Amino acid sequence: MTVATKATISPGRLLIDGQWVDSAQHFDTVNPATAEVLTQIVEASAADVDAAVAAARKALESGPWRKMPASERGRLIWRLADLIEKNIAELAELETLDNGKPIFESRNVDMPMVIDVLHYYAGWATKIHGETVNTFDGAFTYTLREPVGVVGLIIPWNFPLLLASWKLGPALACGNTIVLKPAEQTPLTALRLGELAIEAGLPAGVVNIVTGGPEVGKSIVRHSGIDKIAFTGSTAVGKEIMRSASDTLKRVTLELGGKSPNIVFADSDLDSAVRGAINGIFYGKGEVCNAGSRLFLESKIQDEFLDKLIGRAKKMQPADPLDPKTRMGAIVSQEQMQTVLGYIEAGKKEGAKLLTGGNQVSVGGKGYFLEPTIFGGVSNDMKIAQEEIFGPVLAALTFDDPDQVVALANTNPYGLAAAVWTKDVKKAHQVSRQLRAGTVWINTYGLMDASLPFGGYKSSGFGRELGMHAIEHYTELKTVWLNMG
Ligand code: NAD
Repeated sequence: MTVATKATISPGRLLIDGQWVDSAQHFDTVNPATAEVLTQIVEASAADVDAAVAAARKALESGPWRKMPASERGRLIWRLADLIEKNIAELAELETLDNGKPIFESRNVDMPMVIDVLHYYAGWATKIHGETVNTFDGAFTYTLREPVGVVGLIIPWNFPLLLASWKLGPALACGNTIVLKPAEQTPLTALRLGELAIEAGLPAGVVNIVTGGPEVGKSIVRHSGIDKIAFTGSTAVGKEIMRSASDTLKRVTLELGGKSPNIVFADSDLDSAVRGAINGIFYGKGEVCNAGSRLFLESKIQDEFLDKLIGRAKKMQPADPLDPKTRMGAIVSQEQMQTVLGYIEAGKKEGAKLLTGGNQVSVGGKGYFLEPTIFGGVSNDMKIAQEEIFGPVLAALTFDDPDQVVALANTNPYGLAAAVWTKDVKKAHQVSRQLRAGTVWINTYGLMDASLPFGGYKSSGFGRELGMHAIEHYTELKTVWLNMG
């Protein structure tokens, strides 16, 4: 089935100081469901990044943004959220065209959460305050929470607008100005966001958008005019950013990869756990940082559980992402497809048993699609159990008792998320406490809320996004002493 599209897509421009500008170099952004070019996007030069940083610095230091009451800042963020809501159908479609994710997800999950996150942080704008501290009689001492300054936001391709909003919301609420770089594979919604930011009335230079690949990201990270980097992406690039940011001692928060354990005890509601396991690995085509990509099954339920799981996986065949009934979209790019297929080959070679899937397919003769794939008989030291695949590929392992599964789950470089399925409340909490992960779900998978912190342990990064703790990462704390003597 081919679904008619509504979004109009014009060639991309850079948003610098409230103006849309072109530059010398361009590249294509491609619809992974058809392999067709959607439009041309600007590859920003180092000079473009300089101009964007200069605009953000000017807006920070001398524009109306700094002087405006916090309530007005909050109102502008709220208005931006409302404009996103007004244009939700178009934004969801752009996201699906650029990324290949099912429109069901863009329209019902990504965009509603973008709106929630911006509404949530609009409320924070008026609630950022310091403290008065009683030191001694001759002094009046207090603290101020001030914006960090110009913040560089570097975004991956899997949740393009959503992960931008996680950074944009708190950055703006705290009074920072920003230079935003979407991923080169998925720039369209960020560019539309720029138009809506202008329409919402955000002053020129508060939100600047530069498109392009790693070189643009590197220019942002190296730039002496940028005070902080908020990055979501791979652990390898996160490490490089940390090294490069050290030269200018930038503040850095890193949301990186994951290999999250999804642990099912025999005393759980198995049908719910099967649904949770399917959702955990196949939602977002498995291109999800907190995907439940390591499934740990208590040995005695292994056969029954895998039968049910395979039955459901086989029903989730890839289809046109724009069709509202589709639940398995297109892999984001041919390059990512090769990476995922490489892991499937590695799994076979290391002796894991391919239970279902494993093949690239096309939809209507086009695009980069992959069957939902499940490996059984996986041991924890195999590549497919240790490394992030970032595709719809599940590795199923077994265990016999809680201590054993905690040890196996924690024997991995990542620590982003985990889940535990059991009807035993005590066991659920005991295991949750022992897991080294930033989020633990009990009898569910993947729930998120704007008010709850999200982030990683170990190689999954540091700093927390969402919730009140994000405010700390977008402010500096100043201590003021007044001599009262
Ligand atoms: P990536 O690290 O390749 O790229 C992410 C962004 O960084 C892109 O905008 C890219 O252009 C830019 N970039 C690349 N090299 C750079 C460099 N040297 N300096 C500065 N910027 C650079 O990641 P990706 O492939 O786009 O995304 C997938 C990864 O993101 C996965 O590992 C996934 O787990 C992770 N991720 C993490 C979370 C989280 O919240 N922890 C969420 C989503 C994705």
